[in-house]
Amino acid sequence: MKAIVLEQPGTFRLTTMDEPGKPGPGEALVRVRQVGVCGTDLHAYQGTQPFFTYPRILGHELSVEVVATGVSEKGDHTQGDHKGRPYNDTEEVGSSI
Ligand SMILES: [Zn+2]
Repeated sequence: MKAIVLEQPGTFRLTTMDEPGKPGPGEALVRVRQVGVCGTDLHAYQGTQPFFTYPRILGHELSVEVVATGVSEKGDHTQGDHKGRPYNDTEEVGSSI
């Protein structure tokens, strides 16, 4: 799969990575549908996020589709679910991930 890696502040690299394996117990495999870019990402790009290390993949505000699930006692993720949480609002879209 393709990935954009922030190698160091100011330097992105497009690369390919291994596909993730099957999800384990309590895990879900998701396909990212949308991603927000926020101040944290901007600070990472600028190198002003003191607790970040590099290289890293940015993006932590996601809308996703659940494509596979591992065994879960709660049963809170189902294949085909669409989940997300907008970063500029406290209302959930779908249910939270
Ligand atoms: Zn953020």
